[in-house]
Amino acid sequence: MRCPYCSGDNTQVKDSRPTDENASIRRRRVCPDCGGRFTTFERVQLREITIVKRSGRRVPFDRDKLARSIGVALRKRPVEPERIERLISGIVRQLESMGEAELPSSVIGGLVMEALRGLDAVAYVRFASVYRDFREVADFHEVLGEIASTPEVALPKDDGPLEASAERKH
Ligand SMILES: [Zn+2]
Repeated sequence: MRCPYCSGDNTQVKDSRPTDENASIRRRRVCPDCGGRFTTFERVQLREITIVKRSGRRVPFDRDKLARSIGVALRKRPVEPERIERLISGIVRQLESMGEAELPSSVIGGLVMEALRGLDAVAYVRFASVYRDFREVADFHEVLGEIASTPEVALPKDDGPLEASAERKH
């Protein structure tokens, strides 16, 4: 496993243990070149799912890609890596249990929004703002309505820049 910090190839496993009810194995790794420490998760891939994007393009479902976009939404938020892993695993299992070979990307987006809403309000707003891209002003108000009861989130005013830019797109 390549070191994410210095790209060295000599990283060593310091510790392995099962997590997530034995559905995955967590490995703590250390890089002897730069001293960087990181964690990897190993798991079984049950089924190949194809995602149909809004453009109609088909791409294989990529758990890492899903994890990255969730990671961006949760950046610097006080949420433990294990909880994030569980959230991702839960989304993947929901996708797999739908039993469909192809799924529209909006299904994943909806599951992520649902999961983040229960986990961290700030991450939820971040993801929602990117995912929904505030395509419609109605959407924007809907998002605001959904988070209005969450005090730690600063809401833009009605004539704020977010809505202004959303309207400009039309
Ligand atoms: Zn390194």
